[in-house]
Amino acid sequence: MMDQKDISVVFENRYGVEPSYIVRSPGRINIIGEHIDYNEGFVLPAAIDKSILVAIGRNDEYKVRLYSKEFDESYEVSLDDVAPSTVSWANYLLGVVAQFQARQAPLSGFNIAFDGDVPIGSGLSSSAALECATALALQTLFDTSFEKMELVQMAQKAEHSYAKVMCGIMDQFASVFGKKDHAIRLDCRSLSYEYVPFQLEGVDIVLLNSNVKHSLSSSAYNERRAQCEQGVAWVKEAYPAVQSLRDVDLSMLDECVKPKDGLVYRRCRYVVEEKERLLQACEHLEKGDLVALGQKMYATHDGLSKEYEVSCKELDFLVEQAKQYPDILGSRMMGGGFGGCTINLIRKEATERIISEIGKAYKEVIGWELTPYITQVEDGSSVVTQTERVN
Ligand code: ADP
Ligand code: MG
Repeated sequence: MMDQKDISVVFENRYGVEPSYIVRSPGRINIIGEHIDYNEGFVLPAAIDKSILVAIGRNDEYKVRLYSKEFDESYEVSLDDVAPSTVSWANYLLGVVAQFQARQAPLSGFNIAFDGDVPIGSGLSSSAALECATALALQTLFDTSFEKMELVQMAQKAEHSYAKVMCGIMDQFASVFGKKDHAIRLDCRSLSYEYVPFQLEGVDIVLLNSNVKHSLSSSAYNERRAQCEQGVAWVKEAYPAVQSLRDVDLSMLDECVKPKDGLVYRRCRYVVEEKERLLQACEHLEKGDLVALGQKMYATHDGLSKEYEVSCKELDFLVEQAKQYPDILGSRMMGGGFGGCTINLIRKEATERIISEIGKAYKEVIGWELTPYITQVEDGSSVVTQTERVN
């Protein structure tokens, strides 16, 4: 994990004083239940050992000052003029500031320096980690008392309104509510949740980063969302009580969507099947049947690739490779798609060998390096350092 001392030094070099607080917010994995959060089903995420660190302190100029260590870029704006920017990384923080302002939080000028080791654009949700870290940093510095779930929703809205990605609630939720060695079974409709022990006996959770992110990922994401909404609208004509794909089964799709549009039908069918897969996967996990869980992950990938069509040749290659190894129990693309990581369950004794072999094959066929991460499941967002005196 990153050292909080480093970001403290960066902050001090930049602003001439120590930060008042340092906040850590992690990225996340999702075991199964992909593209389900915005369809109000269940998902199964966990926070990981990669995170964003935000250092924050006050200034007395009524200004927002931001510094990204990663890009070595700064951004400054008056609190009166917070608005979406052409500096894209700044939007993830400014969007959160705007959410605090919309709730009349008593903000005054502040400085932020931040850094992270969540690989960017890799499906581990560095964006949500950055939003959540910003939200908790503002809450702590200005002593507001929003509930954790409200911070999650503020972070999500920041992504909608400033980054223009119509994301569901899962990523921000996992970044805030994560718990060491547990996955979280989240009902994305009621927002009720349950911690599920997730310490896999003899198995590593391995992420294989394809190191590619195709540019259509955010437009395609919004397009998939719209296709799901279209499917719901057609089903609703016959079944007015239906609110989302959560309420829809295959026979309803066959009746109401199939005759209208084959593409929308396939998108919706993936979601309806994935809802069911998740429930079965949770049962496998509870029984400790990782082989059956892994089979569900492969099935999810198949649906994401062929029906939902959010995979790409690099991710498909990685999953095809995985299938050749009996020591890999399951593998699938993770996150929005069009690049990023696959998540793999690999028997520990084989992890190193398999990573090296798949890495070689990837280099040969795809032409560039694969980056592997053996992931630990960690706690969610927290204040890690406090230098400001609390009375
Ligand atoms: P993902 O959430 O899958 O990692 P996104 O495209 O949603 O990918 O979000 C990535 C964006 O978040 C980056 O392009 C950048 O603007 C911002 N970001 C994430 N991590 C950092 C970081 N360490 N430093 C600066 N900006 C970051
Ligand atoms: Mg993101």
